[in-house]
Amino acid sequence: MSISENRRDFIKKMGVGSLALPLISARKSTSETPKYEGKKLGIALVGLGYYATQKILPGVDASPYWELRGIVTGSPSKIPEYKKKYNLKDQNILNYENYDELKNCPDIDVVYVCLPNGMHAEYTIRAAKAGKHVITEKPMANNVEECEAMVKACAENKVKLGVGYRCHFEPFNLEAMRYGREKTFGEISFINSMFGWRAGNPDMWRLDGKLAGGGPLMDVGIYSINAARYVKNAEPISVSAQFGPVTRPEYFDEVEESVSWHMEFADGTVFTGYTSYGTNIEVLDCRGDKGWFRMSPAFSYGPLKGDTSNGPMEMPVVHHQTYQMNGMGPMFLSDKPLPDHISGEEGLKDLKIMMAIYESAKAGGKKIMLS
Ligand code: NAD
Repeated sequence: MSISENRRDFIKKMGVGSLALPLISARKSTSETPKYEGKKLGIALVGLGYYATQKILPGVDASPYWELRGIVTGSPSKIPEYKKKYNLKDQNILNYENYDELKNCPDIDVVYVCLPNGMHAEYTIRAAKAGKHVITEKPMANNVEECEAMVKACAENKVKLGVGYRCHFEPFNLEAMRYGREKTFGEISFINSMFGWRAGNPDMWRLDGKLAGGGPLMDVGIYSINAARYVKNAEPISVSAQFGPVTRPEYFDEVEESVSWHMEFADGTVFTGYTSYGTNIEVLDCRGDKGWFRMSPAFSYGPLKGDTSNGPMEMPVVHHQTYQMNGMGPMFLSDKPLPDHISGEEGLKDLKIMMAIYESAKAGGKKIMLS
């Protein structure tokens, strides 16, 4: 089974099992398209893998703000399908070697980097130097230094740098942010979040330390960290972490199989987290002094589901990437800087926390203070 099939299978199991279907159809669903007939943003997809073609591209197609005008691929056999369907100009079809020719592609305003994590920094910086705005997938890069170099290159070349944090446009997660902001359940003082999936392909790049930067923490644990920060609307002040046991050494000789961690916030809030490539799990559980809310599934493509001490979360089930592209369209059309929450600086904050988690786990659980 390929990585994509494996992830799809997990996502199906988490959210769209046969038992779940009647519930889903009973819930509110929306595909509302904003009314917009102005200038479209030309976008180029960098990498034509699973996430780019199966998730982001349908979002681009469904959003009135965007138009696919370019592709960057190392597989010539993939070109004819996209060239024909999107009427792409030859000059806007690039590969990893001639990528810098982006500077001669005036139709392309934004590139969307959907490559393995360890390639995000290089392809973001080269795009910035070619004068293109960038959206890069999460995690923003493999380490803090790469993130800082990306932020610097985009600033120097006066282009915007966004991170594909789709949950920031998704109704359940937006509602979780609102609960935190408006203290609907009082001050949240305990958060538990777990996100993991069982890997079934020992050849996937996600197990390669150089391409992935780390294991499940970099791939999906990042959602739990990002969620803790957006529910609390604050930054953790310390972390401590422990790696779980390696049960499949043939998979996990370069990246962790699982890691659990603890974060503290200045107001005394405690967060416990777990991420794994061995266990299918996906929860965000937040407890306050006036009640609680719990989402499960919380972060995958959905349908997401949530309950609270006041009753079920009645949020619309949406196509996340369409909402993301609809949300990001006006942000990239505007002359203003991107909002902080989807910016490169936001991606960098998550990376700093993940690196501290690795540092702590490597040191056997030592408490690391975050500056
Ligand atoms: P994928 O393996 O399906 O696609 C990766 C693409 O990169 C392929 O087109 C591949 O040909 C290309 N590539 C170029 N050089 C490569 C190399 N040396 N090794 C491997 N591939 C190479 O992966 P994906 O699942 O599409 O993930 C791509 C990015 O998107 C990752 O950063 C991942 O974290 C992110 N992602 C985000 C979400 C989300 O929900 N936001 C979901 C899935 C993936």
